[in-house]
Amino acid sequence: MRILIIEDEVRLAENVATAFRDRYGSAVDCAHDGLEGFSLAESGHYDLLILDLMLPGADGLSIVTKLRTRGDATPILILTARDERAHVIDLLNAGADDYLTKPFDLGELLARGKALIRRGKGVANTVLTLGQLSLNSVEQTVHGDSQLVDLSPTEYRILEYLMFRPRAIVSKRELLEHLYDYRWEHHSNVIEAHVSNLRKKLRATGELALVETIRGRGYRLSVPEASQ
Ligand code: CA
Repeated sequence: MRILIIEDEVRLAENVATAFRDRYGSAVDCAHDGLEGFSLAESGHYDLLILDLMLPGADGLSIVTKLRTRGDATPILILTARDERAHVIDLLNAGADDYLTKPFDLGELLARGKALIRRGKGVANTVLTLGQLSLNSVEQTVHGDSQLVDLSPTEYRILEYLMFRPRAIVSKRELLEHLYDYRWEHHSNVIEAHVSNLRKKLRATGELALVETIRGRGYRLSVPEASQ
């Protein structure tokens, strides 16, 4: 999952980023002013934006409005200070999905953020399934044919991303961008090893779902017709 935090309180932004990295293994980018934040939001492919209301450059409301006007449907969670509560209705009307008032509980932010990401993918359930394969995104566990599949954090994140897009071809670059922070190019060579390990572990449990390599295009999670 790739997250963008636009927040001018640098320390707060870093704390939130660290929490998402530690808890969910998310790739997180931070911007500390509204203009930089908007240009990242506009150009990057994020699964969630966490946006402060009062920012130098461009404020949260104008960023929400511009993104939604352009048809960008990325889930947006707003952070507001207590005395900014009056703006909340404007923000929700402009298309923000949820908000939290500072100071907030980091655990609550993580839970709400994850819920927005799931809804953004059209997945309201915490358990994703494909054939016999099931992934619980709260417990971060995977079962293939009722057996627990013991995955490394990176293997889990690859599978989770693919399970959000069953049967779709996901390019290596897209996968890398969602797994790592800025310097994703450095991980380009190791992704194949992670995918290969993931494939072996799934196969070892008798799981029928396959992570296929589509030459020159990327990866695809699929199940044989008969087992669907
Ligand atoms: Ca601020």
